[in-house]
Amino acid sequence: MTVTARAPAKVNVHLGVGSLRADGFHELRTVYLAVSLFDTVTVGPGDGLSVSVTGEGAGGDVPTDRRNLVWQAAELLAAHAGVPADATIAVAKNIPAAAGLAGGSADAAAALVALDELWGTRASRGDLAGLAARLGSDVPFSLAGGVALGSGRGEQLSPVLARRPSHWVLGIAADGLSTPAVYRELDRLRAAGRVADGTDLSSPDAVLGALRDGPPAALGAALSNDLQAPAFSLRPELRRALRAATDAGAVAALVSGSGPTVAALTDDEDAAVRLAAVLAGEGVFRTVRVVHGPVPGARVLS
Ligand code: ATP
Repeated sequence: MTVTARAPAKVNVHLGVGSLRADGFHELRTVYLAVSLFDTVTVGPGDGLSVSVTGEGAGGDVPTDRRNLVWQAAELLAAHAGVPADATIAVAKNIPAAAGLAGGSADAAAALVALDELWGTRASRGDLAGLAARLGSDVPFSLAGGVALGSGRGEQLSPVLARRPSHWVLGIAADGLSTPAVYRELDRLRAAGRVADGTDLSSPDAVLGALRDGPPAALGAALSNDLQAPAFSLRPELRRALRAATDAGAVAALVSGSGPTVAALTDDEDAAVRLAAVLAGEGVFRTVRVVHGPVPGARVLS
């Protein structure tokens, strides 16, 4: 018997980064949007744990040992439920790694729901959310999906109303960016006085209002990401990539999370398909993907 689950990538349509906390994390105020790019995780019986990773997002440095978040998810759920951590876990990655799309978090969330079914551990959604928060700041959102306001490190979620779907082109770079390195660069720019410090955590109200009842132009005008400046600083060519997206007709574009993926908002699905064709032709990105959001979080498929 095997169980397959899938979980979505996310875009942060608002990412306000506060000051550094005593525990080494920054205080965040973020609005997550789950988008239609999915990883799938298939689990089956095993003797101990084994992890394999395949697919487009598998290149580079995705580990297959206990450093992989799905391995950690399995150990955590097994300990919580008091069952042996026995499973084979096959991760099929469409979400590129280290892209600012929370691919690893998606895999962890999918592994939790798949293993819960395989092992018959019947954890409540609340229990799974608690385990998810221990695995990483974005994992609770990968489990929940939809659109949500995240505070704390991003793991404390409250629901957000989005009246209409939004359509995006994701411009994916050849090389990833390390999330901790981008936060360190933000701290450096702040210490040097080159960007505003984190004392006033930027408010998500404009984005929340635009999601509630605005047209795409209102959402476009409200998009903001405090990690964009440090991502540009580490990867100067990202500025040009972002401009290429707006020059080619995007309503607006921003760096997704810690980057380097560029998320370009369009008026509708047709406009997204047209924009993707132009950007693919220009060769600014390694790949482009047309997606929409919000979509549901981690769920068992079969
Ligand atoms: P975020 O947007 O949450 O910062 P990200 O999309 O930038 O995340 P991930 O793809 O989640 O980054 O992974 C970052 C690093 O985590 C990888 O470079 C890899 O070493 C490690 N990792 C552990 N498990 C996984 C996994 N299942 N998939 C991808 N990376 C993983």
